[in-house]
Amino acid sequence: MDNLSKFTIRTSDRRVFRRCLRKWGWQSSLKGNLQRKGTEQNIHFWFGSAIHFAMEDYFSYNYFGDPRKAFKAYYNAFDKDTLPDGAEDAYDLGIAMLTYFLDWYPRYNKQWDFQTLWLNENNKPCVPFSEGAKPAVEQRFFIDLDIKVIVNAKTEEIICEYKEGDPQLINQNAFDMFRLADQEPEYTYMHKGKEIPIKIVPIYYHGTMDRLVIDRYGRWWILDYKTAKGADTNKLDTDDQISAYLWAAEKWFGHPIYGFVYLQLTKDIAKKPKRLKSGELSVDKKQKTTHYLVRQELINEFGSVQKAPMKYIDFLNHLAEQETPEGDRFIRWDFIQRNKEQLEATYRHIMGELQLMLNSDLYLYPNPTRDCIWDCPLRHVCLAIDDGRNSEVALILDNEYEARPRQEDGQKEEWRMKINEMIKEGVVIEDDFDIDFDGINIILPDDNKTKEE
Ligand code: SF4
Repeated sequence: MDNLSKFTIRTSDRRVFRRCLRKWGWQSSLKGNLQRKGTEQNIHFWFGSAIHFAMEDYFSYNYFGDPRKAFKAYYNAFDKDTLPDGAEDAYDLGIAMLTYFLDWYPRYNKQWDFQTLWLNENNKPCVPFSEGAKPAVEQRFFIDLDIKVIVNAKTEEIICEYKEGDPQLINQNAFDMFRLADQEPEYTYMHKGKEIPIKIVPIYYHGTMDRLVIDRYGRWWILDYKTAKGADTNKLDTDDQISAYLWAAEKWFGHPIYGFVYLQLTKDIAKKPKRLKSGELSVDKKQKTTHYLVRQELINEFGSVQKAPMKYIDFLNHLAEQETPEGDRFIRWDFIQRNKEQLEATYRHIMGELQLMLNSDLYLYPNPTRDCIWDCPLRHVCLAIDDGRNSEVALILDNEYEARPRQEDGQKEEWRMKINEMIKEGVVIEDDFDIDFDGINIILPDDNKTKEE
């Protein structure tokens, strides 16, 4: 199957489909299949990718021994002149966030004892680092949606859905034979009075799970990391990525999935409590600190919390009220489950959207909103289309975009290849992370008020 072209839909495609048909038409694997050339220039996506890599390494082979070192390796893997604007500030922010994560995670994981699952080639659990075992991080899945389409073999344009016995199709019985041989089936089709070379391709639901974990009771969970300006829990009951991944994971791994751990890291820095000019600890409720950090500071200063003056106990209680078993204002995780009916509904939603996506008569109209300015990398092309600057449109798309590989294995990003080289060559990443977090107050460019990466 890996050698075959993949026409896919992903949760992000479905969201773009609902957000703006014009944008979807450029990006979807079922249509234009375009992706940006070169390094990601959206600082939020670049940063999200850096945090994900740090977690991926730390909770799998742990080549770097510290997620901050993995994060630094990611940063070093880019030529300085290709980094997006704001990458240096984002580096400091990432180191600060991961420093706090290292403190947060063992405290909150005590109750769950989540461990990364290691799987063999048949997706069966096995002992970490044993022969053939792979850590279940960055788990890519392709669920065959049992719909095939006829595609122009030259332009890769979808002509129509494949129905067995279509009188226009020549050599149709060859299809399964080719599939079994793991080859791209190619034959011809009568389309608008012309015989054209075609291939018949299945449509897959595709996604990548950040991590699969097993808890102390042996239950399997999907664990996903989000970096965002602020944690948001209102959307979790209706979040379509959670529903789709829970639906897909059971099919892909052939194992019940107990739930989804939605881990949100706020792009902010948890600091030790401030000190007043007098040297006393501040009890300012607006300061960016946590119950744990204040508690530690009181123990250092007074020997125990009980020995601290009452105003500090009150401050500590105030902070405790702000925190829940799920986390604090900097990091929290939520545990979400979907029942059988919800998973069945998810499948129906996916198939319903797919039917609309495959409608060749669908007019791909734009949906301009105030969000276009930050959520659409193709805004300048969109404007040029409606201005009638057609040659400019073609030029921009040609210069800035390229076709996304249909046989990609997901591990071919240039930065990833450079990191693999670093690991092979045994490059040492210094742990010079004693940044003065009290002295920095980083806010990434505010082009994105609510979006998560
Ligand atoms: S700029 Fe807005 S309307 Fe135009 S393609 Fe992008 S999202 Fe759609």
